[in-house]
Amino acid sequence: MPVFEYQCEKCGHVTSFLEKAGSRKAHVCEKCGSGKTEKVFSTFAAKSGSSGSSSCPTGTCPFS
Ligand SMILES: [Zn+2]
Repeated sequence: MPVFEYQCEKCGHVTSFLEKAGSRKAHVCEKCGSGKTEKVFSTFAAKSGSSGSSSCPTGTCPFS
């Protein structure tokens, strides 16, 4: 099962979550309890995404 990291917008703490791909459950900061978290792309995800050509629809993807 992959690990996803979410950074809290409130305190900046990064919490790791074990979950299935496509899961839509809430990601709550383990430090302050805030539900406002943003997904952090790991270097592993960035590398796997760079194997293909640029597929970012907006052209603003930092990994494209
Ligand atoms: Zn927090």
